[in-house]
Amino acid sequence: MYRTNTCGELNMSFIGKDIILCGWVQKSRDLGGMTFVDLRDRYGITQLVFNMDTNPELCEKARKLGREFVVQAKGKVRERSNKNLKIATGEIEIDVFEFNILNRSEIPPFTIEEETDGGEELRMKYRYLDLRRATVKNNIILRHRVAQEVRKYMDSVGFIEVETPVLIKSTPEGARDFVVPSRMQPGTFYALPQSPQTLKQLLMVAGFDKYFQIVKCFRDEDLRADRQPEFSQIDCEMSFVERNDILETFEGLAKYLFRQVKGIEFNEPFLRLPYHEAMEFYGSDKPDLRFGMKFCELTPIVKGHDFAVFDSSEYIGGICAEGCSEYTRKQLDELTEFVRKPQIGAKGLIYLRYNTDGILKSSVDKFYSADELKRWADFMNAKPGDLIMILAGDKKRTLTALSELRLEMGNRMGLRKKETFVPLWVVDFPLLEWDEETKRFYAMHHPFTSPIPQDLALMETDPGKVRADAYDLVINGVEIGGGSIRIHDAAIQQLMFKVLGFTNEEANEQFGFLLNAFKFGAPPHGGVAFGFDRWVAMFGGQDSIRDFIAFPKNNSGRDVMLDTPSQISGKQLDELQLIINVKK
Ligand code: ASP
Repeated sequence: MYRTNTCGELNMSFIGKDIILCGWVQKSRDLGGMTFVDLRDRYGITQLVFNMDTNPELCEKARKLGREFVVQAKGKVRERSNKNLKIATGEIEIDVFEFNILNRSEIPPFTIEEETDGGEELRMKYRYLDLRRATVKNNIILRHRVAQEVRKYMDSVGFIEVETPVLIKSTPEGARDFVVPSRMQPGTFYALPQSPQTLKQLLMVAGFDKYFQIVKCFRDEDLRADRQPEFSQIDCEMSFVERNDILETFEGLAKYLFRQVKGIEFNEPFLRLPYHEAMEFYGSDKPDLRFGMKFCELTPIVKGHDFAVFDSSEYIGGICAEGCSEYTRKQLDELTEFVRKPQIGAKGLIYLRYNTDGILKSSVDKFYSADELKRWADFMNAKPGDLIMILAGDKKRTLTALSELRLEMGNRMGLRKKETFVPLWVVDFPLLEWDEETKRFYAMHHPFTSPIPQDLALMETDPGKVRADAYDLVINGVEIGGGSIRIHDAAIQQLMFKVLGFTNEEANEQFGFLLNAFKFGAPPHGGVAFGFDRWVAMFGGQDSIRDFIAFPKNNSGRDVMLDTPSQISGKQLDELQLIINVKK
Protein backbone atom coordinates (compact mmCIF):
# COMPACT_ATOMS: atom_id res chain seq x y z
CA MET A 1 0.00 0.00 0.00
CA TYR A 2 1.49 3.33 -1.03
CA ARG A 3 -0.57 5.47 1.31
CA THR A 4 -3.08 5.21 4.11
CA ASN A 5 -4.30 8.80 3.94
CA THR A 6 -4.20 11.92 1.82
CA CYS A 7 -2.38 15.17 2.52
CA GLY A 8 -5.66 16.97 3.08
CA GLU A 9 -7.47 14.92 5.66
CA LEU A 10 -5.41 14.55 8.83
CA ASN A 11 -6.50 16.59 11.83
CA MET A 12 -6.58 16.42 15.64
CA SER A 13 -8.70 13.27 15.58
CA PHE A 14 -5.73 11.36 14.11
CA ILE A 15 -3.26 12.29 16.87
CA GLY A 16 -1.04 9.36 17.78
CA LYS A 17 -1.87 7.34 14.67
CA ASP A 18 0.78 5.87 12.37
CA ILE A 19 0.05 6.86 8.78
CA ILE A 20 1.63 6.81 5.30
CA LEU A 21 1.34 9.78 2.94
CA CYS A 22 2.46 10.28 -0.66
CA GLY A 23 2.86 13.53 -2.48
CA TRP A 24 5.08 16.23 -3.93
CA VAL A 25 7.51 18.36 -1.99
CA GLN A 26 6.04 21.85 -1.98
CA LYS A 27 8.91 23.26 0.01
CA SER A 28 11.33 22.36 2.72
CA ARG A 29 12.75 24.54 5.49
CA ASP A 30 15.77 23.92 7.62
CA LEU A 31 15.48 25.47 11.04
CA GLY A 32 18.66 24.41 12.84
CA GLY A 33 17.83 21.13 14.48
CA MET A 34 14.55 20.65 12.66
CA THR A 35 13.60 20.25 9.01
CA PHE A 36 10.04 20.87 7.87
CA VAL A 37 8.74 19.60 4.55
CA ASP A 38 5.36 20.57 3.12
CA LEU A 39 3.97 17.58 1.27
CA ARG A 40 1.26 18.28 -1.31
CA ASP A 41 -1.26 16.14 -3.14
CA ARG A 42 -4.63 16.82 -4.76
CA TYR A 43 -6.29 17.07 -1.35
CA GLY A 44 -4.04 19.50 0.47
CA ILE A 45 -0.74 20.03 2.23
CA THR A 46 0.61 18.29 5.33
CA GLN A 47 3.70 19.27 7.28
CA LEU A 48 6.36 16.58 7.78
CA VAL A 49 8.93 17.05 10.57
CA PHE A 50 12.43 15.66 10.84
CA ASN A 51 14.55 16.07 13.96
CA MET A 52 18.36 16.26 13.93
CA ASP A 53 18.57 15.19 17.59
CA THR A 54 16.39 12.11 17.38
CA ASN A 55 17.10 10.87 13.84
CA PRO A 56 20.07 12.71 12.27
CA GLU A 57 20.38 10.29 9.36
CA LEU A 58 16.78 10.69 8.24
CA CYS A 59 16.98 14.43 8.80
CA GLU A 60 20.09 14.70 6.58
CA LYS A 61 18.24 12.77 3.88
CA ALA A 62 15.22 15.06 4.15
CA ARG A 63 17.43 18.10 3.77
CA LYS A 64 18.40 16.89 0.31
CA LEU A 65 14.81 16.76 -0.96
CA GLY A 66 14.26 19.08 -3.92
CA ARG A 67 11.07 20.88 -4.89
CA GLU A 68 8.52 18.59 -6.54
CA PHE A 69 10.28 15.35 -5.56
CA VAL A 70 7.69 12.60 -5.17
CA VAL A 71 7.89 11.19 -1.67
CA GLN A 72 6.33 8.51 0.48
CA ALA A 73 6.50 9.32 4.20
CA LYS A 74 5.62 7.08 7.14
CA GLY A 75 5.18 8.65 10.53
CA LYS A 76 3.05 9.47 13.54
CA VAL A 77 0.47 12.26 13.61
CA ARG A 78 1.15 14.74 16.39
CA GLU A 79 -0.18 18.09 17.49
CA ARG A 80 1.71 21.11 16.17
CA SER A 81 3.07 23.62 18.60
CA ASN A 82 2.80 26.38 16.00
CA LYS A 83 -0.68 25.95 14.50
CA ASN A 84 -1.77 27.27 11.14
CA LEU A 85 -5.53 27.56 11.34
CA LYS A 86 -5.81 28.68 7.73
CA ILE A 87 -5.44 25.16 6.39
CA ALA A 88 -7.40 22.02 7.27
CA THR A 89 -4.30 20.10 8.37
CA GLY A 90 -2.77 23.08 10.16
CA GLU A 91 -3.16 21.74 13.70
CA ILE A 92 -1.11 18.61 13.15
CA GLU A 93 2.21 17.48 11.69
CA ILE A 94 3.84 14.16 10.92
CA ASP A 95 6.80 13.00 12.96
CA VAL A 96 8.41 11.00 10.16
CA PHE A 97 10.23 7.77 10.93
CA GLU A 98 10.77 6.53 7.38
CA PHE A 99 10.54 7.97 3.93
CA ASN A 100 11.20 6.96 0.34
CA ILE A 101 11.89 9.08 -2.66
CA LEU A 102 9.50 7.65 -5.26
CA ASN A 103 10.80 9.94 -7.97
CA ARG A 104 13.05 12.93 -8.35
CA SER A 105 12.16 16.13 -10.16
CA GLU A 106 14.10 18.68 -12.09
CA ILE A 107 13.80 22.18 -10.72
CA PRO A 108 10.38 23.29 -12.01
CA PRO A 109 10.43 26.23 -14.47
CA PHE A 110 8.24 28.30 -12.15
CA THR A 111 7.26 28.13 -8.51
CA ILE A 112 4.24 25.96 -7.90
CA GLU A 113 2.58 28.32 -5.49
CA GLU A 114 -0.39 30.63 -5.59
CA GLU A 115 1.86 33.63 -6.19
CA THR A 116 3.85 31.99 -8.91
CA ASP A 117 6.73 33.65 -10.74
CA GLY A 118 5.76 31.94 -14.02
CA GLY A 119 4.36 33.99 -16.92
CA GLU A 120 1.27 32.88 -18.83
CA GLU A 121 3.12 31.33 -21.78
CA LEU A 122 5.48 29.34 -19.56
CA ARG A 123 2.62 28.04 -17.44
CA MET A 124 0.74 27.00 -20.59
CA LYS A 125 3.78 25.12 -21.81
CA TYR A 126 4.04 23.26 -18.53
CA ARG A 127 0.31 23.07 -17.98
CA TYR A 128 0.64 19.82 -15.98
CA LEU A 129 2.73 21.76 -13.45
CA ASP A 130 0.34 24.71 -13.43
CA LEU A 131 -2.46 22.23 -12.71
CA ARG A 132 -0.65 21.39 -9.47
CA ARG A 133 -1.39 24.93 -8.22
CA ALA A 134 -4.40 25.07 -5.93
CA THR A 135 -6.49 27.62 -7.87
CA VAL A 136 -6.12 25.95 -11.24
CA LYS A 137 -6.67 22.54 -9.71
CA ASN A 138 -9.78 23.76 -7.90
CA ASN A 139 -11.18 25.15 -11.15
CA ILE A 140 -10.93 21.71 -12.73
CA ILE A 141 -12.53 20.13 -9.70
CA LEU A 142 -15.33 22.70 -9.87
CA ARG A 143 -15.84 21.75 -13.51
CA HIS A 144 -16.14 18.12 -12.52
CA ARG A 145 -18.70 18.97 -9.84
CA VAL A 146 -20.82 21.02 -12.19
CA ALA A 147 -20.72 18.22 -14.78
CA GLN A 148 -21.88 15.69 -12.20
CA GLU A 149 -24.70 17.97 -11.06
CA VAL A 150 -25.81 18.54 -14.66
CA ARG A 151 -25.99 14.80 -15.19
CA LYS A 152 -27.87 14.26 -11.94
CA TYR A 153 -30.50 16.86 -12.79
CA MET A 154 -30.94 15.83 -16.39
CA ASP A 155 -31.27 12.18 -15.43
CA SER A 156 -33.76 13.06 -12.71
CA VAL A 157 -36.07 14.75 -15.22
CA GLY A 158 -35.87 11.90 -17.71
CA PHE A 159 -33.17 12.95 -20.17
CA ILE A 160 -30.97 10.36 -21.87
CA GLU A 161 -27.30 11.09 -22.55
CA VAL A 162 -26.44 10.09 -26.10
CA GLU A 163 -23.02 10.54 -27.67
CA THR A 164 -22.90 11.86 -31.21
CA PRO A 165 -19.99 11.51 -33.64
CA VAL A 166 -17.13 13.96 -34.01
CA LEU A 167 -16.34 13.22 -37.64
CA ILE A 168 -19.39 14.65 -39.37
CA LYS A 169 -20.52 17.13 -41.99
CA SER A 170 -20.84 20.90 -41.73
CA THR A 171 -23.40 21.96 -39.10
CA PRO A 172 -25.51 25.08 -39.44
CA GLU A 173 -24.10 27.42 -36.77
CA GLY A 174 -22.42 29.52 -39.40
CA ALA A 175 -18.87 29.73 -38.05
CA ARG A 176 -15.89 28.33 -39.95
CA ASP A 177 -15.47 24.55 -39.74
CA PHE A 178 -12.43 22.60 -38.70
CA VAL A 179 -12.00 19.85 -41.26
CA VAL A 180 -10.35 16.43 -41.28
CA PRO A 181 -9.17 14.88 -44.53
CA SER A 182 -10.29 11.36 -45.32
CA ARG A 183 -7.63 8.83 -46.35
CA MET A 184 -10.11 6.28 -47.59
CA GLN A 185 -11.91 8.74 -49.84
CA PRO A 186 -9.07 10.97 -50.99
CA GLY A 187 -10.02 14.56 -51.62
CA THR A 188 -12.96 14.48 -49.22
CA PHE A 189 -13.24 15.86 -45.74
CA TYR A 190 -15.15 15.46 -42.55
CA ALA A 191 -16.10 18.58 -40.63
CA LEU A 192 -15.89 18.65 -36.86
CA PRO A 193 -19.25 19.58 -35.32
CA GLN A 194 -19.79 23.22 -34.43
CA SER A 195 -22.51 21.62 -32.31
CA PRO A 196 -24.49 18.38 -32.58
CA GLN A 197 -27.46 20.43 -33.86
CA THR A 198 -28.55 18.24 -36.76
CA LEU A 199 -27.79 15.01 -34.92
CA LYS A 200 -29.89 15.91 -31.91
CA GLN A 201 -32.77 16.74 -34.24
CA LEU A 202 -32.33 13.30 -35.82
CA LEU A 203 -32.51 11.80 -32.33
CA MET A 204 -35.91 13.46 -32.00
CA VAL A 205 -37.01 11.83 -35.24
CA ALA A 206 -35.70 8.59 -33.73
CA GLY A 207 -38.05 9.04 -30.78
CA PHE A 208 -35.60 9.88 -27.96
CA ASP A 209 -37.81 12.65 -26.71
CA LYS A 210 -35.40 14.01 -24.11
CA TYR A 211 -31.74 14.07 -25.10
CA PHE A 212 -28.70 15.70 -23.57
CA GLN A 213 -24.97 15.47 -23.81
CA ILE A 214 -21.95 17.32 -22.43
CA VAL A 215 -20.14 17.55 -25.70
CA LYS A 216 -17.12 19.07 -27.42
CA CYS A 217 -17.85 21.56 -30.19
CA PHE A 218 -15.37 23.05 -32.62
CA ARG A 219 -15.47 26.48 -34.25
CA ASP A 220 -12.64 28.02 -36.19
CA GLU A 221 -13.19 31.60 -35.01
CA ASP A 222 -11.02 34.41 -33.75
CA LEU A 223 -10.43 33.86 -30.08
CA ARG A 224 -11.26 35.96 -27.04
CA ALA A 225 -11.14 35.39 -23.31
CA ASP A 226 -14.42 33.52 -23.36
CA ARG A 227 -13.79 31.58 -26.56
CA GLN A 228 -11.69 28.54 -27.39
CA PRO A 229 -11.55 26.71 -30.73
CA GLU A 230 -12.86 23.65 -28.93
CA PHE A 231 -15.29 24.12 -26.10
CA SER A 232 -18.01 22.14 -24.38
CA GLN A 233 -21.76 22.51 -24.48
CA ILE A 234 -24.52 21.06 -22.39
CA ASP A 235 -26.53 20.21 -25.46
CA CYS A 236 -30.22 19.38 -25.09
CA GLU A 237 -33.28 18.66 -27.20
CA MET A 238 -36.88 17.73 -26.40
CA SER A 239 -39.91 16.57 -28.37
CA PHE A 240 -43.58 17.49 -28.02
CA VAL A 241 -42.76 20.78 -26.37
CA GLU A 242 -43.51 24.44 -26.73
CA ARG A 243 -41.15 27.22 -25.81
CA ASN A 244 -42.52 27.46 -22.31
CA ASP A 245 -41.85 23.78 -21.59
CA ILE A 246 -38.22 24.23 -22.57
CA LEU A 247 -37.72 27.41 -20.59
CA GLU A 248 -39.24 25.84 -17.50
CA THR A 249 -37.18 22.68 -17.77
CA PHE A 250 -33.90 24.54 -18.14
CA GLU A 251 -34.73 27.24 -15.67
CA GLY A 252 -35.01 24.22 -13.40
CA LEU A 253 -31.51 23.16 -14.37
CA ALA A 254 -30.12 26.65 -13.77
CA LYS A 255 -31.78 26.93 -10.38
CA TYR A 256 -30.60 23.45 -9.41
CA LEU A 257 -27.00 24.24 -10.38
CA PHE A 258 -27.01 27.55 -8.51
CA ARG A 259 -28.35 25.79 -5.44
CA GLN A 260 -25.97 22.83 -5.54
CA VAL A 261 -22.83 24.63 -6.64
CA LYS A 262 -23.18 28.12 -5.18
CA GLY A 263 -25.77 27.66 -2.45
CA ILE A 264 -27.92 30.35 -4.09
CA GLU A 265 -31.72 30.02 -4.23
CA PHE A 266 -33.80 31.68 -6.92
CA ASN A 267 -37.39 31.65 -5.80
CA GLU A 268 -38.86 33.82 -8.52
CA PRO A 269 -39.18 32.87 -12.20
CA PHE A 270 -36.46 34.35 -14.39
CA LEU A 271 -37.40 37.52 -16.24
CA ARG A 272 -38.31 36.98 -19.91
CA LEU A 273 -37.24 40.03 -21.84
CA PRO A 274 -38.15 40.45 -25.52
CA TYR A 275 -35.13 41.07 -27.71
CA HIS A 276 -36.35 44.46 -28.91
CA GLU A 277 -36.71 45.68 -25.31
CA ALA A 278 -33.24 44.40 -24.47
CA MET A 279 -31.90 46.42 -27.37
CA GLU A 280 -33.95 49.58 -26.66
CA PHE A 281 -33.24 49.70 -22.95
CA TYR A 282 -29.79 48.12 -22.65
CA GLY A 283 -28.38 48.21 -26.19
CA SER A 284 -27.46 44.56 -25.95
CA ASP A 285 -29.05 41.16 -26.47
CA LYS A 286 -27.25 40.03 -23.32
CA PRO A 287 -27.94 42.76 -20.80
CA ASP A 288 -26.27 42.71 -17.42
CA LEU A 289 -29.21 43.21 -15.07
CA ARG A 290 -27.25 43.29 -11.84
CA PHE A 291 -27.94 47.00 -12.06
CA GLY A 292 -30.52 49.31 -13.64
CA MET A 293 -29.35 52.38 -15.52
CA LYS A 294 -31.87 51.69 -18.26
CA PHE A 295 -31.56 53.83 -21.38
CA CYS A 296 -33.94 56.69 -21.84
CA GLU A 297 -34.57 57.91 -25.35
CA LEU A 298 -34.50 61.71 -25.57
CA THR A 299 -34.75 62.15 -29.33
CA PRO A 300 -38.16 63.87 -29.44
CA ILE A 301 -37.53 66.26 -26.55
CA VAL A 302 -34.02 67.52 -27.32
CA LYS A 303 -34.15 68.18 -31.04
CA GLY A 304 -34.87 71.59 -32.54
CA HIS A 305 -32.65 73.87 -30.44
CA ASP A 306 -30.01 74.59 -33.07
CA PHE A 307 -27.64 72.10 -31.52
CA ALA A 308 -26.36 70.49 -34.70
CA VAL A 309 -25.12 67.28 -33.04
CA PHE A 310 -28.60 66.45 -31.79
CA ASP A 311 -30.48 67.84 -34.76
CA SER A 312 -28.56 65.62 -37.16
CA SER A 313 -28.86 62.46 -35.06
CA GLU A 314 -31.25 59.62 -35.66
CA TYR A 315 -31.19 58.62 -31.99
CA ILE A 316 -30.36 60.46 -28.79
CA GLY A 317 -30.34 58.51 -25.58
CA GLY A 318 -29.01 58.76 -22.08
CA ILE A 319 -28.34 56.96 -18.85
CA CYS A 320 -28.52 58.31 -15.36
CA ALA A 321 -25.74 57.41 -12.94
CA GLU A 322 -27.05 57.78 -9.43
CA GLY A 323 -24.96 59.86 -7.06
CA CYS A 324 -22.28 60.69 -9.63
CA SER A 325 -22.94 64.43 -10.06
CA GLU A 326 -19.65 65.21 -8.44
CA TYR A 327 -17.55 63.42 -11.01
CA THR A 328 -14.49 65.57 -11.66
CA ARG A 329 -13.53 67.09 -14.97
CA LYS A 330 -10.88 64.41 -15.22
CA GLN A 331 -13.38 61.59 -14.71
CA LEU A 332 -15.68 63.07 -17.35
CA ASP A 333 -12.75 63.43 -19.75
CA GLU A 334 -11.89 59.77 -19.18
CA LEU A 335 -15.45 58.76 -19.97
CA THR A 336 -15.40 60.90 -23.11
CA GLU A 337 -12.17 59.21 -24.15
CA PHE A 338 -13.79 55.88 -23.40
CA VAL A 339 -16.81 56.40 -25.65
CA ARG A 340 -14.60 57.76 -28.40
CA LYS A 341 -12.45 54.63 -28.59
CA PRO A 342 -12.75 53.21 -32.11
CA GLN A 343 -14.28 49.97 -30.86
CA ILE A 344 -17.03 51.99 -29.15
CA GLY A 345 -17.31 54.62 -31.83
CA ALA A 346 -19.29 57.50 -30.28
CA LYS A 347 -18.31 60.99 -31.38
CA GLY A 348 -18.51 62.50 -27.95
CA LEU A 349 -20.26 62.49 -24.60
CA ILE A 350 -22.75 65.08 -23.44
CA TYR A 351 -23.29 65.27 -19.73
CA LEU A 352 -25.69 66.90 -17.39
CA ARG A 353 -24.81 67.21 -13.71
CA TYR A 354 -27.75 67.44 -11.36
CA ASN A 355 -25.94 68.98 -8.43
CA THR A 356 -27.05 68.23 -4.91
CA ASP A 357 -28.18 71.85 -4.55
CA GLY A 358 -30.62 71.25 -7.40
CA ILE A 359 -28.67 73.28 -9.99
CA LEU A 360 -28.23 71.67 -13.39
CA LYS A 361 -24.95 72.07 -15.25
CA SER A 362 -24.33 70.67 -18.67
CA SER A 363 -21.88 70.65 -21.51
CA VAL A 364 -24.60 72.07 -23.77
CA ASP A 365 -25.72 74.99 -21.58
CA LYS A 366 -25.35 77.27 -24.58
CA PHE A 367 -28.22 75.63 -26.41
CA TYR A 368 -30.64 74.76 -23.65
CA SER A 369 -32.20 76.83 -20.88
CA ALA A 370 -32.20 75.70 -17.26
CA ASP A 371 -35.88 74.80 -17.67
CA GLU A 372 -35.12 72.64 -20.68
CA LEU A 373 -32.42 70.81 -18.78
CA LYS A 374 -34.75 70.27 -15.85
CA ARG A 375 -37.25 68.76 -18.26
CA TRP A 376 -34.64 66.23 -19.43
CA ALA A 377 -33.73 65.39 -15.87
CA ASP A 378 -37.38 64.85 -14.92
CA PHE A 379 -37.95 62.81 -18.04
CA MET A 380 -35.11 60.56 -16.96
CA ASN A 381 -36.24 60.38 -13.33
CA ALA A 382 -32.97 61.93 -12.22
CA LYS A 383 -32.56 63.31 -8.70
CA PRO A 384 -30.18 65.89 -7.30
CA GLY A 385 -26.80 64.19 -7.00
CA ASP A 386 -27.11 62.26 -10.28
CA LEU A 387 -25.11 62.48 -13.46
CA ILE A 388 -26.83 62.12 -16.84
CA MET A 389 -24.75 61.01 -19.80
CA ILE A 390 -26.05 61.31 -23.34
CA LEU A 391 -24.88 59.89 -26.65
CA ALA A 392 -26.24 60.69 -30.10
CA GLY A 393 -25.83 59.36 -33.61
CA ASP A 394 -27.27 56.66 -35.78
CA LYS A 395 -29.49 54.40 -33.76
CA LYS A 396 -27.76 51.04 -33.93
CA ARG A 397 -24.29 52.29 -33.14
CA THR A 398 -25.45 54.69 -30.46
CA LEU A 399 -27.34 51.96 -28.63
CA THR A 400 -24.23 49.79 -28.69
CA ALA A 401 -22.01 52.62 -27.49
CA LEU A 402 -24.47 53.49 -24.74
CA SER A 403 -24.43 49.85 -23.70
CA GLU A 404 -20.64 49.96 -23.33
CA LEU A 405 -20.88 53.19 -21.37
CA ARG A 406 -23.51 51.67 -19.09
CA LEU A 407 -21.27 48.67 -18.38
CA GLU A 408 -18.29 50.94 -17.79
CA MET A 409 -20.34 52.98 -15.30
CA GLY A 410 -21.50 49.73 -13.70
CA ASN A 411 -17.85 48.82 -13.18
CA ARG A 412 -16.87 52.25 -11.90
CA MET A 413 -19.76 52.33 -9.47
CA GLY A 414 -19.07 48.80 -8.22
CA LEU A 415 -22.47 47.54 -9.36
CA ARG A 416 -21.24 44.42 -11.13
CA LYS A 417 -20.52 42.25 -8.14
CA LYS A 418 -19.04 38.83 -8.89
CA GLU A 419 -21.15 37.05 -6.31
CA THR A 420 -24.48 38.55 -7.41
CA PHE A 421 -26.20 36.64 -10.19
CA VAL A 422 -29.11 37.91 -12.24
CA PRO A 423 -30.32 35.39 -14.83
CA LEU A 424 -32.92 36.17 -17.48
CA TRP A 425 -34.24 34.78 -20.74
CA VAL A 426 -34.02 37.01 -23.77
CA VAL A 427 -36.81 35.89 -26.11
CA ASP A 428 -38.29 36.71 -29.52
CA PHE A 429 -35.07 37.27 -31.40
CA PRO A 430 -35.40 38.29 -35.02
CA LEU A 431 -35.40 35.20 -37.23
CA LEU A 432 -33.17 36.77 -39.87
CA GLU A 433 -30.37 39.24 -40.11
CA TRP A 434 -29.74 41.29 -43.24
CA ASP A 435 -26.16 41.45 -44.45
CA GLU A 436 -25.37 44.58 -46.45
CA GLU A 437 -22.23 43.16 -47.98
CA THR A 438 -23.72 40.04 -49.52
CA LYS A 439 -27.20 41.60 -49.79
CA ARG A 440 -28.98 38.63 -48.31
CA PHE A 441 -30.58 37.38 -45.13
CA TYR A 442 -28.80 35.06 -42.73
CA ALA A 443 -30.45 33.01 -40.02
CA MET A 444 -29.74 34.75 -36.73
CA HIS A 445 -29.69 31.43 -34.88
CA HIS A 446 -29.65 28.68 -37.51
CA PRO A 447 -31.89 27.73 -40.45
CA PHE A 448 -33.90 25.18 -38.44
CA THR A 449 -35.21 27.77 -36.02
CA SER A 450 -38.95 28.18 -36.22
CA PRO A 451 -40.59 31.55 -36.79
CA ILE A 452 -43.15 32.55 -34.18
CA PRO A 453 -46.45 31.24 -35.60
CA GLN A 454 -48.11 34.70 -35.55
CA ASP A 455 -45.31 36.07 -37.75
CA LEU A 456 -45.41 33.31 -40.34
CA ALA A 457 -47.35 35.39 -42.84
CA LEU A 458 -44.55 37.97 -42.88
CA MET A 459 -42.07 35.39 -44.17
CA GLU A 460 -42.98 36.20 -47.76
CA THR A 461 -43.79 39.90 -47.38
CA ASP A 462 -41.35 41.30 -44.80
CA PRO A 463 -38.93 38.60 -43.66
CA GLY A 464 -36.78 41.07 -41.68
CA LYS A 465 -39.70 41.59 -39.28
CA VAL A 466 -40.29 37.91 -38.49
CA ARG A 467 -39.55 36.94 -34.90
CA ALA A 468 -37.97 33.59 -34.11
CA ASP A 469 -39.19 31.18 -31.47
CA ALA A 470 -35.69 31.47 -30.01
CA TYR A 471 -34.33 32.27 -26.58
CA ASP A 472 -31.04 32.87 -24.80
CA LEU A 473 -30.21 32.39 -21.16
CA VAL A 474 -28.23 35.43 -20.07
CA ILE A 475 -26.55 35.78 -16.70
CA ASN A 476 -24.69 38.95 -15.67
CA GLY A 477 -24.20 40.10 -19.25
CA VAL A 478 -22.94 36.73 -20.46
CA GLU A 479 -24.83 34.56 -22.93
CA ILE A 480 -24.79 31.25 -21.12
CA GLY A 481 -26.93 29.40 -23.62
CA GLY A 482 -29.42 29.61 -26.41
CA GLY A 483 -31.84 27.57 -28.41
CA SER A 484 -35.11 27.51 -30.25
CA ILE A 485 -38.21 25.66 -31.25
CA ARG A 486 -37.34 23.97 -34.54
CA ILE A 487 -39.17 23.85 -37.81
CA HIS A 488 -40.67 20.37 -38.25
CA ASP A 489 -42.93 21.19 -41.17
CA ALA A 490 -41.37 20.60 -44.59
CA ALA A 491 -43.20 23.51 -46.24
CA ILE A 492 -42.00 26.04 -43.66
CA GLN A 493 -38.47 24.67 -43.88
CA GLN A 494 -38.57 25.12 -47.62
CA LEU A 495 -39.78 28.66 -47.24
CA MET A 496 -36.97 29.36 -44.78
CA PHE A 497 -34.37 28.06 -47.22
CA LYS A 498 -35.94 30.17 -49.94
CA VAL A 499 -35.70 33.33 -47.83
CA LEU A 500 -32.09 32.45 -47.03
CA GLY A 501 -31.38 32.22 -50.74
CA PHE A 502 -30.68 28.48 -50.82
CA THR A 503 -31.78 26.66 -53.98
CA ASN A 504 -33.41 23.27 -53.42
CA GLU A 505 -30.20 21.63 -54.62
CA GLU A 506 -28.05 23.57 -52.18
CA ALA A 507 -30.36 22.82 -49.27
CA ASN A 508 -30.36 19.17 -50.21
CA GLU A 509 -26.65 18.96 -50.59
CA GLN A 510 -25.95 20.45 -47.19
CA PHE A 511 -28.86 19.16 -45.13
CA GLY A 512 -30.51 16.51 -47.31
CA PHE A 513 -30.04 13.86 -44.62
CA LEU A 514 -32.09 15.94 -42.18
CA LEU A 515 -34.75 16.98 -44.67
CA ASN A 516 -35.11 13.35 -45.67
CA ALA A 517 -35.46 12.24 -42.10
CA PHE A 518 -38.19 14.81 -41.61
CA LYS A 519 -40.25 12.95 -44.21
CA PHE A 520 -40.61 10.08 -41.75
CA GLY A 521 -42.57 11.68 -38.98
CA ALA A 522 -40.59 14.42 -37.28
CA PRO A 523 -42.18 15.32 -33.95
CA PRO A 524 -42.54 18.96 -32.94
CA HIS A 525 -39.31 19.64 -31.08
CA GLY A 526 -36.97 22.26 -29.72
CA GLY A 527 -33.86 22.55 -27.65
CA VAL A 528 -31.10 24.58 -26.20
CA ALA A 529 -27.36 24.42 -25.65
CA PHE A 530 -25.38 25.97 -22.82
CA GLY A 531 -21.74 26.97 -22.89
CA PHE A 532 -20.45 24.62 -20.25
CA ASP A 533 -17.01 26.23 -19.89
CA ARG A 534 -18.57 29.67 -19.52
CA TRP A 535 -21.02 28.53 -16.93
CA VAL A 536 -18.28 26.89 -14.88
CA ALA A 537 -16.06 29.98 -15.21
CA MET A 538 -18.96 32.12 -13.99
CA PHE A 539 -19.46 29.86 -10.98
CA GLY A 540 -15.71 30.19 -10.42
CA GLY A 541 -16.02 33.99 -10.49
CA GLN A 542 -13.90 34.54 -13.59
CA ASP A 543 -14.37 35.85 -17.12
CA SER A 544 -11.82 33.70 -18.90
CA ILE A 545 -12.84 30.13 -19.64
CA ARG A 546 -9.26 29.07 -20.19
CA ASP A 547 -8.47 28.23 -16.62
CA PHE A 548 -11.47 25.97 -16.38
CA ILE A 549 -10.22 23.74 -19.19
CA ALA A 550 -7.50 21.26 -18.30
CA PHE A 551 -5.52 21.71 -21.50
CA PRO A 552 -6.60 24.92 -23.24
CA LYS A 553 -5.23 26.67 -26.33
CA ASN A 554 -3.69 30.12 -26.31
CA ASN A 555 -5.06 33.20 -28.07
CA SER A 556 -3.71 32.13 -31.43
CA GLY A 557 -5.34 28.73 -31.11
CA ARG A 558 -2.05 26.99 -30.29
CA ASP A 559 -1.52 24.29 -27.76
CA VAL A 560 1.93 25.40 -26.64
CA MET A 561 2.38 22.30 -24.51
CA LEU A 562 1.74 19.83 -27.35
CA ASP A 563 3.26 22.34 -29.77
CA THR A 564 0.40 22.10 -32.20
CA PRO A 565 -0.98 22.78 -34.81
CA SER A 566 2.11 21.39 -36.48
CA GLN A 567 3.14 20.00 -39.82
CA ILE A 568 2.48 16.39 -40.68
CA SER A 569 4.95 14.04 -42.35
CA GLY A 570 5.33 13.66 -46.11
CA LYS A 571 4.12 10.09 -45.69
CA GLN A 572 0.88 11.23 -44.06
CA LEU A 573 0.35 13.81 -46.79
CA ASP A 574 0.96 11.15 -49.43
CA GLU A 575 -1.55 8.81 -47.86
CA LEU A 576 -4.09 11.60 -47.80
CA GLN A 577 -3.11 12.63 -51.32
CA LEU A 578 -2.76 16.21 -50.21
CA ILE A 579 -0.37 18.87 -51.46
CA ILE A 580 0.41 21.80 -49.19
CA ASN A 581 0.34 25.19 -50.82
CA VAL A 582 1.02 27.73 -48.10
CA LYS A 583 0.69 31.30 -49.36
CA LYS A 584 3.71 33.40 -48.46
N1 ASP B 1 -26.92 24.28 -31.68
C1 ASP B 1 -27.21 25.59 -31.17
C2 ASP B 1 -25.92 26.33 -30.89
O1 ASP B 1 -24.88 25.73 -30.70
C3 ASP B 1 -28.02 25.58 -29.93
C4 ASP B 1 -29.42 25.07 -30.15
O2 ASP B 1 -30.13 25.63 -30.97
O3 ASP B 1 -29.80 24.13 -29.46
O4 ASP B 1 -25.93 27.55 -30.81
